[in-house]
Amino acid sequence: MSQVTYLWNPPAVLSLPVRGNSERLPINRLFFVGRNYHAHAVEMGKPVDKAAERPFYFTKAPQTLVQSGATVEYPPETGNYHYEMELVVVIGAPGFRVAEADAHKLIYGYACGLDMTRRDLQLAARDKGRPWDLGKDVEQSSVVSEVVPMPAVVLDQGELALTVNGEPRQKSDLKMLIWDIRELISDLSKFYHLQPGDLIFTGTPEGVGAVVAGDRIDGKIAGVGEIVLHIAAPQ
Ligand code: MN
Repeated sequence: MSQVTYLWNPPAVLSLPVRGNSERLPINRLFFVGRNYHAHAVEMGKPVDKAAERPFYFTKAPQTLVQSGATVEYPPETGNYHYEMELVVVIGAPGFRVAEADAHKLIYGYACGLDMTRRDLQLAARDKGRPWDLGKDVEQSSVVSEVVPMPAVVLDQGELALTVNGEPRQKSDLKMLIWDIRELISDLSKFYHLQPGDLIFTGTPEGVGAVVAGDRIDGKIAGVGEIVLHIAAPQ
């Protein structure tokens, strides 16, 4: 058998640091939950009726992943680049059509995440019934902290907060999630065979807003950790 060779060097494996472990966690897919805090759904003009709806999702390319602490250039083709502070669930075991009662078995741990968004393009696409990709699948827009191992732990409370240049912008609690961790894992696993290294961004609370070049974003989730992002001048 001859060894496989490639025309050019294949991309590096995407990964995140793990607290207390020198081994890094390889990343598979990036899933995002839309409108999962009532006050944020209202500020976006799209209130959620949990009794009549299911969660909805979008994805970003794993290549949009950036580690906390990075400096990223203000992205092109937007004048309204928004932060969204989110809890990230890190999947550590495969699962398909998982019952809510078994959902915890897929959890490896958690991280802090920022779902950076070209809000102007997202809303224009939304209102025209077009895909969200140009608004959401932005290069360097999926910011994630170190992963904190908490196998089979279901987080159901904990303050989540974000500041820009030290000014408070978002503050909520994980207990305000419309669809909780068990419900999200179970529901998402009806559509996808979840795999180790899949990340689920669980949605942002109210208070989203724009950043500009020079801004520093700091986020934290009680019991999980902290995240930092610096915005540099556009290319
Ligand atoms: Mn989001």
